[in-house]
Amino acid sequence: MTLDDIKNQIDEAKTVVVLTHENPDGDAMGCALAMYNALKQLNKEVDVIIPEFSRCFNFLPGVPEIKKEGKNEYDLAIAVDCSDTKRLNGFVDYFENAKVKVEIDHHGVNTMFADYNYVDPVSPACAQILVKVLPYWDIEITKEIGTCLLTGIITDTGGFKYSGVTSETFEFAAWLLQKGVNVSNVYRNVLQTVTRSSFELNRIAMNRLQFYENGKIAFTYITKEDEQSVKAETGDYEGIVDVGRDVEGVEVSIFLRELENGGYKVSLRSNDYVNVSDICLMFGGGGHIKAAGCTISNGTLENVRDKLIAQTKMYLK
Ligand code: 5GP
Ligand code: MN
Repeated sequence: MTLDDIKNQIDEAKTVVVLTHENPDGDAMGCALAMYNALKQLNKEVDVIIPEFSRCFNFLPGVPEIKKEGKNEYDLAIAVDCSDTKRLNGFVDYFENAKVKVEIDHHGVNTMFADYNYVDPVSPACAQILVKVLPYWDIEITKEIGTCLLTGIITDTGGFKYSGVTSETFEFAAWLLQKGVNVSNVYRNVLQTVTRSSFELNRIAMNRLQFYENGKIAFTYITKEDEQSVKAETGDYEGIVDVGRDVEGVEVSIFLRELENGGYKVSLRSNDYVNVSDICLMFGGGGHIKAAGCTISNGTLENVRDKLIAQTKMYLK
C-alpha cells in the first residue's frame, strides 16, 4: 500500500525536503510544518522550504526554521496540499532533483505528479489526511504537530462550516484538543485577526464590488497600485473573495488580483451548485468544487472579467 511504501522511503532517506504550493494558505503551512516536525521526530535531516508566507502564520511551531532556499539534491521530497508541479512554482527544482518524490494531497484535480501519490479528495483539508497518516507511521501527534494540523483543518473548512466537513473532522478536532491544542488561539490567528493592510484592501474591494446576472455573480478586484497604497504583504488579499460570496443570492464570487508582472490571479468561490474547479480548469488552473483559482496572463481587467463572467454564466441555473 502507498502509505507503507512512503514510510519505507522516509526510513531510507537521510535528507528530506518538504514543499507546498505558492501563496500558501493555512492548510499548506500547517501540513508543511506538521510534516517538518514529524520528520524531525524521526531524526531526519529535513528542510522545509517556503519562500513567502503571511505573517499570520508566525505562531506555528517550526516557522523560525523555514528556509527560503535549500540544497541542490535531497534523498526525498515530500509535497503537501499541492495539486500539480506548476503550483510549486519557483521551487519546483527541489522537487524534481530529489531522488524520490512523494506527495500527499486532497485536490480532486491532482495530476499524480510524484513517484508515490497519496491523494484523498474527500478530505476537506490535507491536514485531515495527516491526522490519520502520521499515527499510522507511528509518529506521535504532539501538541506542536496538532497545532499545525488544526490550523490546516480550520482554514480549509472555513472554521468547520464548509460542506466538505465530515464527522471525522470533528472527531479529529476533539482529539487534537485533547492533545492540548489551543483552538481559540488558532482560530483567532488564522480566521479572525486581519492586518491593517488586509482590512484596507478589503475596504477597497468591497467598494468596487459589482453584481451580475441578477445578483448571482459577485465580482471585485484589486490592482498593484492598491496593494502599494496600503503597503500590502503576502497574504493580505486572502479572504477578499468571501465578501461577495456571503451576499444573499450570490452563487459565484469572482476576485481578481493584478500580478506584479502583469496578468491576474483569479479566485472563484461558489455557494451551492456551480463547480468552480471546472471553470478554472478551462483557464489552466484548478482547485475544489467550491473554491478554485487560476492565473490569466493576457488581457485588460475588463477582458478578463468578461471572459470569466461569460464562462460562469453557462453554469448558472
Ligand atoms: P485561492 O482562491 O484561495 O487562491 O485558491 C482556492 C483553491 O484553488 C485552493 O485549493 C488552491 O489550491 C486552488 N488554486 C488556486 N489557484 C490555482 C491555480 O492556479 N491552479 C490550480 N491547479 N489550483 C489553484
Ligand atoms: Mn488544502
